[in-house]
Amino acid sequence: MTLLRVEDVHKSYGDEEVLKGVSFEMDRGDVDVLMGPSGSGKSTMLRCINRLTEIDSGGIWLDGTPVYDPETDVNELRQDVGMVFQDFNLFAHLTALENITLGLKRVLGVPEAEATERAADHLAQVGLAAQADSYPAELSGGQQQRVGIARALAMEPKLMLFDEPTSALDPELVGEVVEVMRDLAERGMTMLVVSHEMGFARSAADDIHFLDSGRIVESGPPEQLFQRPEHDRTSEFLTGLQ
Ligand code: ADP
Ligand code: MG
Repeated sequence: MTLLRVEDVHKSYGDEEVLKGVSFEMDRGDVDVLMGPSGSGKSTMLRCINRLTEIDSGGIWLDGTPVYDPETDVNELRQDVGMVFQDFNLFAHLTALENITLGLKRVLGVPEAEATERAADHLAQVGLAAQADSYPAELSGGQQQRVGIARALAMEPKLMLFDEPTSALDPELVGEVVEVMRDLAERGMTMLVVSHEMGFARSAADDIHFLDSGRIVESGPPEQLFQRPEHDRTSEFLTGLQ
C-alpha cells in the first residue's frame, strides 16, 4: 500500500546540488517527519513532490502515478497533495470560510451552497466554527494556521505536506496547531511533515528522516532516532534541539 515513493531524487540550483539522491517510501496512513539543519533541502524535497520545483533526475510516484511523467496532469496531481506553509499563505481579503470555499468552487467546481457547507465542516474540524466570518488579520497565528490546514483538507488530498507549520508561531500558539495535526494523523491522513517539534514527532511519527546536505543520513522510528542515533550528525543535531 505504498502511497508515496521517492527514488534517488537529485536537484540542483545552478551548480549547487541541493538534493543528492534522496529515497524513501510512505504507506497510506503513514506520518513521516523530515528533520535536518537549515539549508539541508527539506523545503525543496517537499516542493518536488507537487512539482512546485522540478527534479533533475530520479522519480517520484504518488499512489502509483509517476509525478514526472509528461502525461501526468500537474493540476490533478496538486489536488491530491495538500500543502501547509510556514507563513499560512491565506488570502487577506477573504474570510476564513471564503479562504476554503474558493478552491472548492474554482478548482473542484463545487456549487456555492455545498462549498459553504463543506468549508464549515472543515472549520469545525479544526475548532474554528465560530471564526468562519473572521478575516485573517482578526485571527491569531495559530488560528490562521488552522484555517490553512482546513483549506488544504477541504480538497480531500491523498497526502498532506507540512513545511514548518509551527515555526512562525509564538510558543504559546504551537500547541493548538500540533493538536490539530495529531488529530489528523489519528484519523489516518498520510502526512509528510517538516518540523522540529519533538513532541509531535515522538507521539505521531512512524518514521523520522534526518536530512543533512541533501542526503537522508538516517531514518527510523522516533524512539530509535532519539535514543540511539547511529550517526554523529543526527545526534549532534538532536542534542541542539533540546
Ligand atoms: P531547508 O528547507 O532544509 O532549509 P531548502 O530546501 O529551502 O532547505 O534549501 C536548500 C538549499 O537550496 C539552500 O542552500 C537554499 O539556499 C537553496 N535554494 C532553495 N531554493 C532555491 C531557489 N529557488 N533558487 C536557488 N537556490 C535555492
Ligand atoms: Mg525550509
